[in-house]
Parts: sequence; structure tokens; C-alpha cells
Amino acid sequence: MRARRVRRARTAARRFHRRHRRLVGHALLFSLASVTLAFVGCLTRDQPGIRQSTPENSSTKSTVDRTIRVRLMGAQAVPAFNLEIASPCRVRDASTGKQLLSLTKPMAASRVAPARHAVMLGSTKCDSDDLLIEPSRDASLVIDGKTYRGSLRIRRSGDGLTATNLIDVEDYLRGVLRGELPAHFHPQAQRALAVAARTYVLYEKLTAPVGRDYDVLADERSQMYIGVKGEDATAVGAVDDTVGEVCLVRDHGSEKVFSTYYSSSCGGMTQPVLEFRPGDPDVPTLAGNVVCNDCYLAPSFQWNPVRMSKAEITRRVVARYPRLSRLGQITQISVEERSKSGRATKIKLVGSGGTVEILVGEDFRLCVGGHTLKSTRFKIVDEGARVRFVDGRGFGHGVGLCQYGADRQAKLGRSYRQILEYYYPGVIIRSAY
Ligand SMILES: [Zn+2]
Repeated sequence: MRARRVRRARTAARRFHRRHRRLVGHALLFSLASVTLAFVGCLTRDQPGIRQSTPENSSTKSTVDRTIRVRLMGAQAVPAFNLEIASPCRVRDASTGKQLLSLTKPMAASRVAPARHAVMLGSTKCDSDDLLIEPSRDASLVIDGKTYRGSLRIRRSGDGLTATNLIDVEDYLRGVLRGELPAHFHPQAQRALAVAARTYVLYEKLTAPVGRDYDVLADERSQMYIGVKGEDATAVGAVDDTVGEVCLVRDHGSEKVFSTYYSSSCGGMTQPVLEFRPGDPDVPTLAGNVVCNDCYLAPSFQWNPVRMSKAEITRRVVARYPRLSRLGQITQISVEERSKSGRATKIKLVGSGGTVEILVGEDFRLCVGGHTLKSTRFKIVDEGARVRFVDGRGFGHGVGLCQYGADRQAKLGRSYRQILEYYYPGVIIRSAY
């Protein structure tokens, strides 16, 4: 009975949040009057043809644009895709805002393809290179069989098209949790990930290069976003129970969001961000080398040896870094530098002509394949024409929050805040809206 009351209260709270969102559109106020958030104002970066909400209150100091631009189907243009719109909708020119089309009925699954200075929605020609499709009902967009909330921007790019889902950050997160975390993980671990994923995407939005028309990709290069399909009760609960909460780091008197990296299992110790991406900001919350005794039950805590020919490694390295073709055939592969956490942070490659190249360990891993070499915590055994990667531990880059570690910590009674404080030492958790 009590559980039912709690459920009812939660449902009411969710309804309130949804209503509240509808009232204020995509912009909400920061309520942290006493805190200077470095990203206040920056998130209102103009997006052509896309609504900028008006603050409700004239005393408002600033607003935050909560719209996330999620590039679907990869960063590059695709030749065509299938689109179904399950409610009436408006089609506008995303650059000028001019209405191009008003569909009074749902649109059955149609092929979307580029045309000369136009985009074809099935047999309907829209005379613009840049469309914004705004369904009248949420969760009406079905793209290649997957359902999404929000609206859709379609741009013609060369001979192809790009598709970008414009969506409120909280709705986006509901479609991320299940893409990133198994449903059976403890609710406190789910909440920890919801806060980390929210911070990550807001940081990506804040730091998106000028001219790029998306904030994140829908795959694991950013965060795995699977849309409405992922919205089970656990995911929705974890997002709603932490609504607006973000991770901040203090920097020169102000508080900033930072890139809250996380990975599947760290293998026993987290990795400093600068070993992973030497060009990233050096923030204390990502200094790494946090001992993790809680991910040892992860399926990839220890992974099986991987054998690969040097010819195949050469092919994969050159495919990612064409300039390294100057190595010719790679004849020697060795660990040049190893970190405190046991990761190969630098890999030395020697070519057939004696040329030497050093690659950052994570970059080398991604050349070979992020699912083949599950982490940079390995040793290399030279077998002549082949190498064997042995003693592999952990899955992912190991920076920041360890998902399997978070799950076990939650099962041991730690709250999502304590988990975040453990993996991001010195983090400040506040509500951003
Ligand atoms: Zn761990």
C-alpha cells in the first residue's frame, strides 16, 4: 500500500515535471542565485530557426537552452532514410523559420532523400536544404523503425542527408540510460549515471565547436541514445529522481560542468583524463588513479587474450591514421610507457624501414577496435608475424565513473551522490534548473 502511494507520488511528480516542461518550453531558469555557473548563458547559443524561449520572469538573470542536438545515424551524411510521423506536423525551413508544409494527418513511413536544393519527404518535395519537422504530438518521429521524441532537423549535405533529433535534455536522458546501463543495475547506480550523462551532454553542448550542427552522436562515441525504446520505469525513474542535477568542478572561484567520462569497468583503478586525451582540460575531478575494488564481477574485468597479425594491425592503424602509411609494414609493437593503473599509455610502432611512431594508448586501442582490445590494460607478446595481447583487464577507457563499480557500491548501500563523489573526487553536485 505504502509502495503504491510512493508510486502515485512519483507519477504525480513526473506529470508535474512534464507539465512544467511544456509550460516553459526548452528553457528553464537556473535557481542557483548564490552560485556562479560558468555555463550560464553559454547554453543559449543560437540555433537557426529553432525557438528560443522567453524568460517567464523579468527578474531572470539568465536562461538555459535545454535542447540537445543529437545527430542520428553517425556524423556523416547518409544517402536516404525512412521516416514516419505519427501525428500531424509542421515543416519549416530551419534557417529562416518559414513554414514550408503543414501535414494535417500522420505521415506513413516514407523514404526521405535529397533532391536539387530540396528534400523529398516521400513524393512531397520541400524546397529547402534544411528542414525542421515539428510534430504536434511528442514521440511521433519514427526514423528507420526507431521512435524519438522532440523534433527533427534534416539537412542536405552533398549527395546525402543528415538527421538531427532536437530534444529536451531530460527526454534525451530517458533514451540514454538503457543504452548505457543494464536494467538490473541498482537504482542508485542508475541515478549516478543519469547525473553523469546529463553533465556530459551539457558539457558537450557547451563546448561544441562553432559551426557544428550537433552536440552529440547517438552512439558510443558520445552516449548510446536509443530513443523511446529505452524508456523503461527504471530509466525514467533515475532521470526524474535526479532532474536537473549536474556535476560541477570549482575552477578559479566559479563552478563549471566538466566532461563526466564514464566506462563499463575500470579494471581496478581509474585512468587520469590526460592519459586518455592529453588535450582535455586538466580538472581535478578527473585526475584518476582512484582505486576501485568493486568492478571485479564485471564480465570483462579480465578478458581473454587477443591474437592479431601485424599485417592486420598495420591495416587498421593506417585506416584510422593514413599518415602512418609511411611506416610501411609494422614489424614491432611494444608498450613505450605504462601508467600507474597499469595501462599502456604510449605504444611504440616500428615500421619495416625502421621508422618509429608513438601512439597514445587509447588511440591505438581504437585503431585495433574498442571491442577487440577492451582496454589499454594489457601486455604485448611478440609472436613473429603476430602479436598476442594478454592479461587484459577492464572494459572501456576507465576514466571517471566505473559502471560495474557503481553498481556494486550501490548494492553495498552507497547513494548515487556518494558514488559520484567516489569516482569524481571533489565533485560538487547541484541542480542546474
Ligand atoms: Zn572499477
